[in-house]
Formats: sequence, structure tokens, C-alpha cells
Amino acid sequence: MAAQVISGKEIAAQIRAELKSEVEKLAARGIQPGLAVILVGDDPASHSYVKGKEKAAVELNFHSEVHRLPESVSEQDVLALIGKLNEDPKIHGILVQLPLPRHISEKAVIQAIDPEKDVDGFHPQNVGNMYIGLPAFLPCTPHGVIQMLKRSGVEIAGKHAVVIGRSNIVGKPMAQLLLSENATVTICHSRTPDLAAMTKQADILVAAVGRAGTVRADMVKPGAVVIDVGVNRVDGKLVGDCLFDELSEVAGMITPVPGGVGPMTITMLMYNTVESAKRH
Ligand code: NAP
Repeated sequence: MAAQVISGKEIAAQIRAELKSEVEKLAARGIQPGLAVILVGDDPASHSYVKGKEKAAVELNFHSEVHRLPESVSEQDVLALIGKLNEDPKIHGILVQLPLPRHISEKAVIQAIDPEKDVDGFHPQNVGNMYIGLPAFLPCTPHGVIQMLKRSGVEIAGKHAVVIGRSNIVGKPMAQLLLSENATVTICHSRTPDLAAMTKQADILVAAVGRAGTVRADMVKPGAVVIDVGVNRVDGKLVGDCLFDELSEVAGMITPVPGGVGPMTITMLMYNTVESAKRH
């Protein structure tokens, strides 16, 4: 039987409708959520991601600022801009689009953002709080995946979740959030000797690798829920890490690429910005 497709686009639209009414409530109190995005250099993918974030912010009636800086900008100037935004009462969320040029330290930039405005959830204070279960801005992509699972009626507690990938922005926090939801979690990476042996045990499989064709149908347990975080360009087409067509014949539920995790990531960024505006 063909797998049920989990539409990130539809779930994101639901959440954005909920956010719209939160924004109206804030407006009645004279508060407009403010999001500032800093974009350094000319990377076309980064420009397109930032455009998507700007569009979502404007549609939700946020105050939206995009600071486009040249590739040659110094680390000191980026840090100075972050310092100003940290102090700006119109701004509730600050996001620096990654990756940054080599001469700018990602670590220094992330740590310069006021944790109270760190709507990407990358500041060590938010990361630490998430791990020990204190209130924190949750990183947008893994938080979006949890929302997709919950809003599709997937029971996470007691399930075996397998995450492929251990990056700081997707794999590790994904595993932690699944653990917080009481899944039993296995993390796989490039040094995992027999990936298929691990993935076949998954009730919930999350692929966050960045390599098309990583997950084939023979690596998935029948009926499993498959979440494809990967974004890869193959022959000019966007595809995930999973072979969608063949997996659709085996999995119980699956997310498409595009239209899956991507729209959820931007939506959870908007969610974090509204949360921040509510706290201020
Ligand atoms: P990353 O930092 O490159 O991490 C990739 C991970 O995959 C690493 O942990 C790596 O293992 C592991 N890996 C690589 N080859 C593997 C293999 N053959 N078998 C098992 N594991 C393997 O990437 P990322 O930032 O986490 O992003 C992952 C993917 O998600 C990318 O395609 C990215 O574009 C996409 N993404 C999508 C969204 C969205 O909103 N849809 C958001 C963020 C990222 P090692 O640690 O051992 O190297």
C-alpha cells in the first residue's frame, strides 16, 4: 500500500494561521514581532533561504529587516551589528544566515547573539537548556520535524527512532528532541559500519545527511515513518536523501522533498520570533 504523505506545506500553513492570530493579539497590546536577518556574501542558496524567511515574516505582519553585507565585511563589523540589534527594542529575533565566509568565526557570531533573541536556537545557552529540559528556543528544523510527527498523529513515546546525521543544527538536536518525547534513539553517521542494519530497526527514521539516494526501500521496516530532511540538487531537481518513489511502497508515512521539512523550518523560525515577542 502506498505510504501516507506528510505534507509539511499543509502543516506549516496550519501553524502560520495559528501564529497570525497570536500576532493580532500582540498587536492589540502594541507589540509587533521583529525579525532581523544578517546575510553575508553572495551564496545563491543563502539568498534564496533569506528571501523565504523575509516573505514569511512580511506575510505574518512582522517588522522585518534584512542586513545584506558584502563578502569582505569584517568579523568586527558583523559583531557590532549584532550588538546593535541585541539592544534594539523593535527586534525580538536575530538570525545570521550560515554558512559565513571563512574569515568570520561562526562560533563568535552565534555567541554574540543575545540568547533571548536567538530564534535559531544555536546559542550554547539555548542548546544547553534544551538538553537539560529548561525553556529554550528550539532549533527550527528538528522542532519542525517534531511538529510534523505530532500533528500527523504519530506516537513518538516508546518508539525506536533512528536519526542519520549528527550535525549541531539537525542531527544532534533531532535526536535530543525525540529522546525528550520518550523515543529510544539511535544516531548514525558516516562511520556507522552497517547503516541498513540500524535503519531497518526504525519505527521513525529521520535522514539528515545531504546525499541523494542514501535511504533505499530495502533499508526501511515496512510501515515505518520516514522523515527526509535532506536537500540535494540532482539534474537541476531538488530531492531529499531518501528514494521517495520506492520508499512510498514500504513506509507507512513519508515526507516529500520539496514540500516536506523545508516549509516547517521557516515556520518554526516565525514561531520562535512570536514566542520571543510574547516574552518581551
Ligand atoms: P552536515 O553538517 O553535512 O551533516 C551531515 C551528517 O550526515 C553528518 O553527521 C555525516 O556524518 C552524516 N553522513 C554523511 N554521509 C553519511 C553516510 N554515507 N552514512 C551515514 N551518515 C552520513 O549537514 P546538515 O547541516 O546536518 O544537513 C543535512 C541535510 O539536511 C542537508 O542536505 C541540508 O541541506 C539539509 N537541511 C535541510 C533543512 C530543511 O529545512 N529542509 C534544514 C537544514 C538542513 P559525520 O558526522 O560522520 O561526517
